[in-house]
Amino acid sequence: KITVLGSINMDLVVRCRSFPNPGQTILAESSTEFCGGKGANQAVAAAQAGADVTMIGRVGSDSFADRLLQNLKDHHIGTENVQRIADGASGMAIISLDRSGQNSITVVPNANLELSETDVESYRDVIAASDVLMLQLEVPIQTVIAAIRIAKQSGVRVMLDPAPAPHDFPSDLLDVDLLCPNQSETSQLTSLPAELIEQAKVAANQLRSQGCQNVAITLGDQGTYLSSPTYEGQLPAFTTNVVDTTAAGDAFAGVLATCWAQQKSLPEAVRYANAAGAIAASRLGAQSSMPSWQEIEQLVSS
Ligand code: ADP
Repeated sequence: KITVLGSINMDLVVRCRSFPNPGQTILAESSTEFCGGKGANQAVAAAQAGADVTMIGRVGSDSFADRLLQNLKDHHIGTENVQRIADGASGMAIISLDRSGQNSITVVPNANLELSETDVESYRDVIAASDVLMLQLEVPIQTVIAAIRIAKQSGVRVMLDPAPAPHDFPSDLLDVDLLCPNQSETSQLTSLPAELIEQAKVAANQLRSQGCQNVAITLGDQGTYLSSPTYEGQLPAFTTNVVDTTAAGDAFAGVLATCWAQQKSLPEAVRYANAAGAIAASRLGAQSSMPSWQEIEQLVSS
């Protein structure tokens, strides 16, 4: 069982030829609404891969909230612990995509910010009943730290995707079993470059010396650098036809948690997660691009 404590957003995806410069107005080619948010995306990725998933989060009192809740239910994700706030908007993200598949994202957290440190205490039993607690940083950092503490006290394994990486990164956030930053988050956390494999190795070792048990740095088309007590090295990416990389990291995290909850070894789990990231990068959208377990297995065994 996986519990995801995190953000739930409505994504407005705008496709354009190239991104506007400051002060410039451009005409985009199309816009579409998708259910998103890193927390919800990773919950959907895990559920699509066959995990039993429940979510802890907050939505607004607006019409987006009904669609966001229904969407989680449609993916068989438990929503008993997703509450509507009394008065306010649901989380939103404006995602621009250019023709090369690059993205540029503005997140408006709204209701997600209402999930407080004290609220988390009331979810102690839910967290304690999980195999893995999966976290990201689109809800207040103090809330995430409180959740890490409860999971530790309950002997539950914690996985943190430190995205978006804050400027001041409290060391309490590194007290996790598995950290899975991408290249820019790794640089933000360590003040070290993380473009090349050798650089990722140095950064991962630094993060482990600061308290993370295991670190999996995602490196886009270079795959993942895994640093753990029993395995250290690059696990290469699968070749794919890139359409939209928006949710590659979320697909990766959701499937990594799924495999880890099934007691697969970390190198094996990362291999499955790499496959999920590659498939997600080949499709448009966030949640709509999450692969099924069958698709992941097919790519892994190809
Ligand atoms: P994020 O989306 O968080 O920036 P990455 O771009 O590192 O994260 O992608 C996460 C994972 O998805 C990578 O570790 C890799 O396995 C897979 N992936 C991402 N982009 C590609 C790509 N162009 N080709 C193949 N796999 C990819």
